[in-house]
Amino acid sequence: VETAALDKATLGLHPLEQYEPLIGQAAASRIFKKADQVRDAHVIHVNSTFYGGGVTEILTPLTLMMNALGIETGWRQIQGTPAFFSCTKKFHNALQGERVDLTDAEKAVYEQVVFENATRLHLAGCDAVVIHDPQPLPLVGHFADRKMPWLWQCHIDLSTPNPATWNYLRGFVDSYDAAIFSLPEYAQDIDIVQHFFTPAINPFSAKNAELSESEIDECLMRHRIPTNRPLVTQISRFDRWKDPMGVIEAFRKARQSVDCTLVLVGNSATDDPEGDVILETIKASIDERVIVLTVDDPVLVNALQRRAAVVLQKSTREGFGLTVTEAMWKGAAVIGGNVGGIRRQITDGKDGFLVDSIDQAAERIVQLLQDADLRRRLGARAREMVRENFLMSRLLEDWLDLLAGYRR
Ligand code: UDP
Repeated sequence: VETAALDKATLGLHPLEQYEPLIGQAAASRIFKKADQVRDAHVIHVNSTFYGGGVTEILTPLTLMMNALGIETGWRQIQGTPAFFSCTKKFHNALQGERVDLTDAEKAVYEQVVFENATRLHLAGCDAVVIHDPQPLPLVGHFADRKMPWLWQCHIDLSTPNPATWNYLRGFVDSYDAAIFSLPEYAQDIDIVQHFFTPAINPFSAKNAELSESEIDECLMRHRIPTNRPLVTQISRFDRWKDPMGVIEAFRKARQSVDCTLVLVGNSATDDPEGDVILETIKASIDERVIVLTVDDPVLVNALQRRAAVVLQKSTREGFGLTVTEAMWKGAAVIGGNVGGIRRQITDGKDGFLVDSIDQAAERIVQLLQDADLRRRLGARAREMVRENFLMSRLLEDWLDLLAGYRR
């Protein structure tokens, strides 16, 4: 079977060797050497979904690469109920700054569902446990006689967490050995060690690998996306923090000057219950120039990020926008919300644009649609920025360094 075809239909097992042409031989051998130090470690990651969202997108290549290096790395999922995920989505919203009042009954559901999961996780015998985001956070309390380090990695934009919610969750965080956040700006006033790992992408996955112009044409045609006008796109879970309504409004303003088509692609993660409501709101306010797709097709994401004249990620909060990095890797001209991780991903005016308002977004869309040369210049620098900073090999190295610290 042809490798490219297989890659589009599998998880994408891409070992470190494959990164060598991108990161250089010296970096690759340095990382191999670090892997030697933790070769016999057994690490277990726990999150709450295999489908949708950035955490899945990171854990898929990361866990596969670690195992390819001979480091036993497992990935477990906790099971939830609708009431549980509704509560954890409130935590998510509150940590991103929203005022949310959680009742004691909601907290009881949260803690009990995590306890139920804890009874069948059987983590004894591993050398490190990594818990992702707030959903499985209280697990730590049910493994009191643990010998291994427990690490909490939070991928959320923590620049302005709601104090009441943070205080409640902090009660669990304090039992961990260390916390890992996406940016130094998200550091919290806690007594445990804090590490900062910016997320990264797998450049060889179906979503990010090279595509020929004819493959892009074929894919866009299959999804009935017209290519007679320039394309503007945003690819995001249907989540209010991604500001899809702001995108539609900015697009409308831009269209007063340039004709173009907007393609909104969104999936919903199985642990995110709010997607349907947001999707309905979007559908109620679109016109004939706006296409909304809810298909889960990484090749479509790839094709759109490559073909679109402008890729938007107009978030109002964003821990770190993988979609931004994915598009930048493809040399796209990206306009991102001037918030959270996006401010570290895009250098305004150099390798993309940062915007603070719908009007600014509209102006930048028009400017980019009218200037192919500017798009190319920004895109070329964007790809280089990603190559140097945001490939999975770098995140792998961050993990090897951290785990090695616990072996000494
Ligand atoms: N994604 C996708 N299809 C969609 C929407 C999103 O494959 O319809 C992917 C996107 O390409 C990225 C991830 O989901 O890899 C979202 O990660 P990001 O950090 O941008 O946002 P999150 O969902 O974690 O808030």
